[in-house]
Amino acid sequence: MIPMKVKILQKKGEKLTFLLDGASPAFANALRRIMISEIPTLAIDEVSIMDNTSVLFDEVVTHRLGLIPLTFPARRMNPPGECRCKGKGCPLCRVNLKLDRKGPGMVYSGNLRSSNKAVKPTDSRIPIVELLKGQDIKLEATARLGLGKTHIKNQAANAAYQYYPELEANGAKGRDELKKITEACPKKALAIRGKKLILKAPVNCDICRSCEEAGKGIKIKANPSKFIFRLESVSGLNPRDIVIKANEVLQGKARDFKKELSKV
Ligand SMILES: [Zn+2]
Repeated sequence: MIPMKVKILQKKGEKLTFLLDGASPAFANALRRIMISEIPTLAIDEVSIMDNTSVLFDEVVTHRLGLIPLTFPARRMNPPGECRCKGKGCPLCRVNLKLDRKGPGMVYSGNLRSSNKAVKPTDSRIPIVELLKGQDIKLEATARLGLGKTHIKNQAANAAYQYYPELEANGAKGRDELKKITEACPKKALAIRGKKLILKAPVNCDICRSCEEAGKGIKIKANPSKFIFRLESVSGLNPRDIVIKANEVLQGKARDFKKELSKV
């Protein structure tokens, strides 16, 4: 078996692109599904509205609050069912956020006051509701950890992968033909080196096969054991932590399976 390798290709803000080599499509897909739906993230899931004279109904305001991504100390917070307080609620499993604004003006995510310094919206400029003169809003919200498979507000990331493209160029070609082939690639992934065609930027290639149509003997093969993984965090976790946590979740599943097997 080929040992598995991981190489970071691009890292920018909330986005991460990495190469996963020596894995099967089943493994890559397990990782992708866990990253999307089984990484605990913090989101508002209970709201007590004391006052709301804005144009939005209470439930619409509540829905908007739930969708605000929050930063949180991932290692120091427990899911409600697994906390020491046995579900009663304590600072390790819940965070209170308050909102108290008077119009006129836009109410933003940054106006939420959190009981935990490490918990705040990832972006302070997410609009919640616009208040006119004389309108006001006052509420208290509780945020808890949850999973994306239960509610979309807890989705940790957008994750996708593609097979790694590999170029096969057979037969001698003139410079003009090579140029025509490189220009046929809408992603500018091909280049000419010496008298040869090379796949200069495999990350850009989405296997559209335009190059195959532009020249004879050109083939883009998709390697089913090598993957370009693209990840974008849509939660308060950074993409690197999402990959690490996905691995922990997968390990936990294997551990549970092993435990069950020992009883057979
Ligand atoms: Zn607790």
